[in-house]
Amino acid sequence: MFSKIFTTIKKLFHKHDFKITEYSNIIQYDDMGYPLRLFIERCDCGECKQSWIDITESAVRKTDAVCKWYKSINKPVTPASQLASISGD
Ligand SMILES: [Zn+2]
Repeated sequence: MFSKIFTTIKKLFHKHDFKITEYSNIIQYDDMGYPLRLFIERCDCGECKQSWIDITESAVRKTDAVCKWYKSINKPVTPASQLASISGD
């Protein structure tokens, strides 16, 4: 029981220390035209997150795919919950 309380307290005061562990071939360009790459960062506690991080122009590779964002949600929508609503057209 005490170890459970200790673990809870430890979690409350834990500050994640994220470090890049994986990188992707996905880049996007910000409004100013600077490239960012999608990375996975992990903390020793097991928490992980995906982050867009600035990279230099020379770090962009020919094999990278450029992520594009669309404001309209018409197509291509892939979440299963929304497939039914677009299957008609
Ligand atoms: Zn952590």
